[in-house]
Amino acid sequence: MGLRQRAVVRVVDEPPCRFCGAPLRHVFADLGMQPVANDNVSLEHAGAMEPFFPLCALVCAECFLVQLAPYETPKPIFRDDYAYFSSYSTSWLEHSRRYAEEMTARLGLDASSQVIELASNDGYLLQYFHEAGVPVLGIEPTANTAQVAIDKGIRTRVNFWGVETARAVAAETQADLLLGNNVLAHVPDINDFVAGMKLALKPGGVITMEFPHLLKLIELNQWDTIYHEHFSYLSFATVARVFAAHGLRLFDVQELPTHGGSLRIFACHDEEAFAETEAARELAEREAAAGLGDLQTYLDYGARVVADKLQILEFLIDLKHAGNSIAGYGAPAKGNTMLNYCGVGREFIDFTCDANPHKQGNILPGTHIPVLAPSAIAERKPDVVLILPWNIKEEIMEQLAGIREWGGRFAARAPELRLFP
Ligand SMILES: [Zn+2]
Repeated sequence: MGLRQRAVVRVVDEPPCRFCGAPLRHVFADLGMQPVANDNVSLEHAGAMEPFFPLCALVCAECFLVQLAPYETPKPIFRDDYAYFSSYSTSWLEHSRRYAEEMTARLGLDASSQVIELASNDGYLLQYFHEAGVPVLGIEPTANTAQVAIDKGIRTRVNFWGVETARAVAAETQADLLLGNNVLAHVPDINDFVAGMKLALKPGGVITMEFPHLLKLIELNQWDTIYHEHFSYLSFATVARVFAAHGLRLFDVQELPTHGGSLRIFACHDEEAFAETEAARELAEREAAAGLGDLQTYLDYGARVVADKLQILEFLIDLKHAGNSIAGYGAPAKGNTMLNYCGVGREFIDFTCDANPHKQGNILPGTHIPVLAPSAIAERKPDVVLILPWNIKEEIMEQLAGIREWGGRFAARAPELRLFP
């Protein structure tokens, strides 16, 4: 009786929306208890207790901001050995190079301009502006990552972004181009972050931000991109609402293939003359047609997540029954979320590998699948290579084309987990 009573206790106590403050009453996707998705475990800690935190996304019925419930979340990982450096992905570098070229031409940036990047990481993107002679400033909270940028000659401040940092920056300079890629979704206080951008943007300046598109998360069942460090899941309409609340106006958008489908939004001060583009109008209409302005769309999503888990398990069980050995490739956060939500461990996947030497020799959080160097694939010749970062599966299939020599096949989520010939 006691257990039964406990099971019906409300787990969501109507916390306020991170943006508009309305009480949050609706679950979007509940992925249960999850370890810290980016936090690979070293072998000497394999026998130690590992923290798991609730991972549950809620939706606001007023502004439709999908957001993590304010449960306890892990402390952000800003350790000295923080293993993520943007420069390890060749396709991401190419994406950044093209962006710098395009924006330099579009905005006519030159030696008299100022580019500011929020969460500038190791300078992977600013380096292209810097090489073209455009003055840059990076804002990066992780000291050792910022140091890599500084060593490359990229001016960088070690700070979190928000109104306080923005005031200090604005006292010195304002941005002709203010950009942030894959950072807007990661900030717990989205109002403080956007208010800071307003302060640091020069009159006539342009903001661009890239973030995974909520419409794709829904349409392509990308629930594995929900993780503890990713507080908001953003549609064009909701971002337009957040920006408008801080005197900023979205006037253009590009849809990008990165991270399974991202938006690059363009914003300016309210009063500027930048005309709204056809792309911005069309996307706003498409989001509305897909039901993103209708609470029921969000409420229906949870059942699809459960159906997906069953499909993944059936697929892997069938492969194992047929006698296949399975190796993973990559150790991304989304892979860990998927493996832990589905309960897939070493009984299915012998090992995974990653090109990033900082990850090699560790084990994945929760599942304890070992992470080896990519050469392990050729040495062990698995029957199936399960590509965990499905957003760059084409790049990986090209790199590992050699597995076909022993009849190896690739598997990846697209959006269902399936084999690729
Ligand atoms: Zn809200």
